[in-house]
Amino acid sequence: MMSEEQTLKYTSERAQQLADNYARVMTRVRDAEADTSGVRTEHSPTVRLVTVTKFFPASDVAALYTQGVRIFGENRDQEAAPKARALRAIEKPADPAYWAFIGQLQTNKAKSVVKYAHQVQSVDRASLIDSLAKAYRNQVARYEAGEQDAPVALSQGALECLIQVSLEAQATAGHASEGARGGTDQDEILELAERIEAQEELRCGGIMAVAPLGANPDESFEKLWELAQGLRAEFPHADQISAGMSADLEAAIRWGSTCVRVGSDIMGKRDYP
Ligand SMILES: *Cc1c(COP(=O)(O)O)cnc(C)c1O
Repeated sequence: MMSEEQTLKYTSERAQQLADNYARVMTRVRDAEADTSGVRTEHSPTVRLVTVTKFFPASDVAALYTQGVRIFGENRDQEAAPKARALRAIEKPADPAYWAFIGQLQTNKAKSVVKYAHQVQSVDRASLIDSLAKAYRNQVARYEAGEQDAPVALSQGALECLIQVSLEAQATAGHASEGARGGTDQDEILELAERIEAQEELRCGGIMAVAPLGANPDESFEKLWELAQGLRAEFPHADQISAGMSADLEAAIRWGSTCVRVGSDIMGKRDYP
C-alpha cells in the first residue's frame, strides 16, 4: 500500500502541464459563451467545467485541486471512490472538491457512490433512482448513529441527479440503454424526473447527454436543448444541461449547455487497456 502522501505526489512539470491545459480549455469555454448564433443570449448562465480525471491518478487530481480546480468527473466507482478518499488528505474542509459521477452505474454501486458524489449525471432508469435514494437514506442513518461520515451531498440538502438521455435516432432508441453511449429513451425523461422528485433524498437538476458518434454535434445538441425545454416546463428548477466534451464543447455551449465534461484536452490522451 502506498501512503497517501505518495499517492498524491506530483511533479512540478505535470502540475504546469495540467494548469496550462486547464487554462486553455477554460478560454475555449469563455469564448463559446459569447457565441449567440445558437440559443445563448447575454443572460445565459455561466458554463461549469467538469474536469474528467478517469484513467488518471489521484496525484493529478491533487495537482489540479492545489491550483484551485474544484469540479471533477469520474465514470467508474472502482476508480472514483479511492481517488475521492485520497484527496481528503489535502482537501480543505471549508472548500472541498465537488465530484460528479458521469458513467453507467450499476445499482449495487449506489451505496459507494453516495459517499463521495455530489451529483450523478448518468441517471437513466427507475431502479437506479430507487437504489440511490435508499443508499443515501442508509448513509444518513449511519451518520446519525455516529458510525460513518454523512453522504457528501447532505451539505447541499440532496443528491443532485441529471437524467442521461440517448440522442441516438428514435428508431434505435428501444435499444438505447444497450448502446455504447447510454441514456434513457427521450419519451421517458418526465417519468424519471417525477420519480427523482418523489424521493426526499434526491433532486432533479436537469439533463445530460453524449453526442452520438458520427452525428452532426450541432443537430444533436439542438435536439437536446428541445428536450431540456420539455423537462423545464414541468420542473422549472431542473434547468441544467450537461453536454459537450473535448471535441464538441463549442457546439454544446452554442445549444445551451450549462456544464461541459472535459477529459483528454486537460489530462492528456487516455491509455485504454
Ligand atoms: C470520458 C468522458 C468525458 C470526457 O471525454 P473527453 O473526450 O476525454 O473530453 C465526458 N463525458 C463522459 C460521459 C465521459 O465518459
